[in-house]
Amino acid sequence: MRAQPQASHFVNGDWLEDASGAPIEVIYPGTGEVIARLHAATPAVIEAALAGAHAAQGAWAAMRPVERSRILMRAVALIRERAEELAVLETLDTGKPIQETRAADWPSGADALEYFAGLAPTVTGEMIPLGGDFAYTIREPVGLCVGIGAWNYPSQIACWKAAPALSLGNAMVFKPSEVTPLGALKLAEIFIEAGMPAGIFNVVQGYGAVGAALATDSRVAKVSLTGSVPTGRRVYAAAAEGMKHVTMELGGKSPLIIFDDADVESAVGAAMLGNFYSSGQVCSNGTRVFVQRGIRERFLARLKARTEAIVAGDPLDETTQFGPLVSAAQHGKVMAHIAQAKAEGARLVTGGGAGGALFVQPTVFEVTDDMALAREEVFGPVMAVLTFDTEEEVIARANGTEYGLAAGVFTADLARGHRVIGRLQAGTCWINAYNLTPVEMPFGAVKASGIGRENSKAAVEHYTQVKAVYVGTGPVDSPY
Ligand code: NDP
Repeated sequence: MRAQPQASHFVNGDWLEDASGAPIEVIYPGTGEVIARLHAATPAVIEAALAGAHAAQGAWAAMRPVERSRILMRAVALIRERAEELAVLETLDTGKPIQETRAADWPSGADALEYFAGLAPTVTGEMIPLGGDFAYTIREPVGLCVGIGAWNYPSQIACWKAAPALSLGNAMVFKPSEVTPLGALKLAEIFIEAGMPAGIFNVVQGYGAVGAALATDSRVAKVSLTGSVPTGRRVYAAAAEGMKHVTMELGGKSPLIIFDDADVESAVGAAMLGNFYSSGQVCSNGTRVFVQRGIRERFLARLKARTEAIVAGDPLDETTQFGPLVSAAQHGKVMAHIAQAKAEGARLVTGGGAGGALFVQPTVFEVTDDMALAREEVFGPVMAVLTFDTEEEVIARANGTEYGLAAGVFTADLARGHRVIGRLQAGTCWINAYNLTPVEMPFGAVKASGIGRENSKAAVEHYTQVKAVYVGTGPVDSPY
């Protein structure tokens, strides 16, 4: 068992096991090998995590912000020191190529911790003069937060949620997806090594029911979920019942619009990055690639040639550019989408097959707006290319979806780039780039793809609440 952690959960500063919880088998998607055996949290484990975090949060919030930040910065240093070990673990947990996990997953998580460690001590309230009397505001932590993660960027998601939450004085109980439970445990261990008090960041494993138990507990003030739209609807509704704050980072079917004056190689490269990186298992992917008629043939020819040159293989081999899907279940779903696209008459440009084990070939279809592949999130390496003629037309078609996570435009005409982005219904956008999500930039969605923002100064709003204090400076003027 080459990635077996000391125990399934990390609660109140220590490992915790309860073998009566439902078994969770962790598979390395590269080979199908079982790399760890864990147990879902039982009610006793959930209670220990919630009670411990709830009790610890007050003293953490009362610390000076720079003292909290110092601890987070030590964690950042430990993550960077252990970069290779953590990248290998992430590859084992997810099946993503080591060249990706070295560059994207933990490095992006460390950036988030570093950014919020720097930002949190600058967060202050304001003084409001009232002509003699005055008011002031305090930005307080919301309290106990629950983080629930998807399996595509498990460690990055844990860091992106922990960084603003903890730096601003909240405590967190985090439940990773049971498909990828290992990275978050490392983060919990590193925080303790960095000097974080016990109980501030806890990890409990489990299936949806564990997430639901956490999200509905009366001690929890906020729920931050990264997952699918159907799960988001359920968790948001449950949180609303308890009047809790939420951040919802959900799915998408984002448009990537390529005008015929665009640089073809850059546009092809971006479309490939936005569909094949992490084997397409990225929420913000530009899975509807709208190509203007004048550039269509050149674009498709280069896309096909470059896609067919992608090097698939052993995720732990550093020359591998493309790995398997995360699980047999996800593989089955993606292959069903491909079969449906073929049945609906979509034109296969390249790929379309299962490449053995959990692999799916990088696949490109030409589709029309009515086909399922143009409407439904696949979460796999399947690109849908659509042709358009005019700016007005493509904006309407791009917005014709319930999703609103991301959007991209490629054009040499920057005025047009800004004009089109201004009219697209999406929370995270790119002009002449795609899928870059630096921590300095807000990340989030509109419409059914979510609510709230992660990263950047915008996240401060979502992990603090404002207390307003009126201060009287004279006698009270009362009619009674
Ligand atoms: P799911 O929605 O299936 O699961 C997300 C998490 O929620 C899992 O940990 C899951 O546990 C948990 N969960 C399920 N049901 C409940 C419930 N009733 N109450 C509380 N928690 C629950 O998503 P996937 O893990 O399959 O991830 C893929 C999805 O995530 C895609 O739609 C993708 O677009 C989206 N995503 C969005 C991102 C964003 O930032 N916008 C980034 C990454 C992914 P369990 O796994 O045990 O069911």
